[in-house]
Amino acid sequence: MTKQTLSFQAEVAQLLHLVTHSLYSNKEIFLRELISNASDACDKLRFEAINDGGLYENDTELKVKVSFDKDAKTLTITDNGIGMSTQEAIDHLGTIAKSGTKDFVSKLSGDQKADSQLIGQFGVGFYSGFIVADKITVESRRAGMKADEGVRWISGGAGDFEVENITRPERGTSVILHLRDDAMDYASAWKVKGIINKYSDHISLPILMEKEEWKDGELINPSDEQGGRQPGAMVKTGEWETVNKANAIWARAKKDITQEQYDEFYKQISHDFEAPLAHTHNRVEGSTEYTQLLYIPGKAPMDLYNREKSAGVKLYVKRVFIMDDAEALLPTYLRFVKGVVDSSDLPLNVSRELLQESRDVKAIREGCTKRVLGMLEDLAKNDKLPEATTSAEGVTDVVTEEEKAEAAGKYTRFYNEFGAVLKEGLGEDYANKDRIAKLLRFASSTTDTISVSFADYKARMKEGQEAIYYITADNAAAAKNSPQLEVFKKKGIEVLLMTDRVDEWALNYLQDFDGTPLQSVAKGAVDLGKLQDETEKKAAEEAAETFKPMLAKLKEALKDKAEDVRVTTRLVDSPACLVVQDHGMSTQLARMLKQAGQAAPDVKPVLEVNAEHALVKKLDGSVHFNDLAHILFDQALLAEGGLPADPAAYVKRVNALLV
Ligand code: ADP
Ligand code: MG
Repeated sequence: MTKQTLSFQAEVAQLLHLVTHSLYSNKEIFLRELISNASDACDKLRFEAINDGGLYENDTELKVKVSFDKDAKTLTITDNGIGMSTQEAIDHLGTIAKSGTKDFVSKLSGDQKADSQLIGQFGVGFYSGFIVADKITVESRRAGMKADEGVRWISGGAGDFEVENITRPERGTSVILHLRDDAMDYASAWKVKGIINKYSDHISLPILMEKEEWKDGELINPSDEQGGRQPGAMVKTGEWETVNKANAIWARAKKDITQEQYDEFYKQISHDFEAPLAHTHNRVEGSTEYTQLLYIPGKAPMDLYNREKSAGVKLYVKRVFIMDDAEALLPTYLRFVKGVVDSSDLPLNVSRELLQESRDVKAIREGCTKRVLGMLEDLAKNDKLPEATTSAEGVTDVVTEEEKAEAAGKYTRFYNEFGAVLKEGLGEDYANKDRIAKLLRFASSTTDTISVSFADYKARMKEGQEAIYYITADNAAAAKNSPQLEVFKKKGIEVLLMTDRVDEWALNYLQDFDGTPLQSVAKGAVDLGKLQDETEKKAAEEAAETFKPMLAKLKEALKDKAEDVRVTTRLVDSPACLVVQDHGMSTQLARMLKQAGQAAPDVKPVLEVNAEHALVKKLDGSVHFNDLAHILFDQALLAEGGLPADPAAYVKRVNALLV
């Protein structure tokens, strides 16, 4: 066959025009694309050779070689994979078969600027070579064909390409990039190795480069050692070395991987010095196929609370690195998870935008979320010291001291670092709300450590208790000493103390736990229901009745501050406290929002007074009624960590009384 010149399919020409006329923020991806093609070609050979071992032609060591020639200005990627026949070179390199690229081309608008932005997000397969080359030569011979049935394909990336028949004894393909002047830095071992390490370390195929060593220049004056030398240079040694790790840990069988190797890989991808708390490694099969290797770190990063930053899962497609921080793979509240997802279904040129829309990604996201929650459930279950169990057959499963020490406390450690972030899931992940709720832990009025789960709480509920009581406050001390807790303490009812900023927001999304309603002790009138006996109820009703006229006076005096004033039974030692209406925002949350510079409604709380308290009893008929009323209100505010609207006025009033 003599040389023939053929035209590219119209879409290819359009794509090439764009490739050669656009600026790239991410030039280096061309190497990833070409190495991935080489790797695909080796996979194909392996597959075809299952039925026809002769295709190996006695060369079973599949590999990729990358070399460059500074003088000739070329960078060459050679594989000994399946290769291409002449017709295949014409078909595969002259038309676009790949659906991802077709999609991409169909999205092109013709507006150069917009299109170049779009193309930056895509890899464009083989044609990405033209980002750095003004001419590409491909030489190939298909496995199983004769040496003189090779093909040479040449194109300058414009409208057409040439093909001719060549003799090529070795099977496989060489892609020779004739580098543009502004891309000469790719003719450097250091640069190329760096790119390979970044994108292709985990390709299971060895990628070889020729070793170089430093050679001093010639003596300027051969008879005078001191007379200086010509500049030295790196020279090729003729020896080839593997430059990638050629080892994707997640693609190996679990049983072949040691704990140490898992930990090592974690450290490599997370830049953490410490070992992770736990990992999960699974190959998921079915309509969406992928491998996940996910870790829970032992320590929170500095920017954990920044919801926009730090997603920690890397996306690979068939062991080729696609992107860091693929936030579409896990919901935001699991942003502390580190690891790798390797999909068999996604196209290599997937962009962040496409990830958001992909059905496969949705399935991966659901799968990963379930796994992470499962991992946390396991940690939580094992957080208590495991006990020896005896099976029905009488076999005792002994737990060693080491195992106990190992397992104990991991969930506690996790929770201290990431618990507040996990709570965001109540609002963010409706489908898994119940699982998340089970994983939450709190301090309580009877337990100092953050260790009480809703289930623990329920198991300890008093007879007749119908709700899970909790209080939100700025800090643990304020929560614990809050006046609203007094009656609960007196009756020995446990109250969960919630002091994370996110608590109030998150609990909005959780009305009940396992059928038992959650009730803030600072919201609505206190109704202890069956926990109150008849005499207590009667006393409260009577107090409310006799206090009516005084309540009216108080209400009048405080009409700018309090929504209402009523008598309560929730107080024991304190004269008064503030509560909000049942579905209102708590004063505490409103305060927090304002501090954060956000819009918050002006919450007018309800003042509740303790009819039994000496100060309240004194109110009636006092000449200082008005001052006392304001002091009562402002003190209630102080007791929950707030500040009087006019602190100076408060001080003045108190001082006047003291004098
Ligand atoms: P994709 O790899 O997604 O199919 P590319 O544009 O990267 O798309 O490559 C187009 C086609 O060219 C490949 O599908 C393959 O048939 C052929 N090809 C490219 N590189 C090689 C190679 N090194 N060996 C054999 N065939 C190749
Ligand atoms: Mg490709």
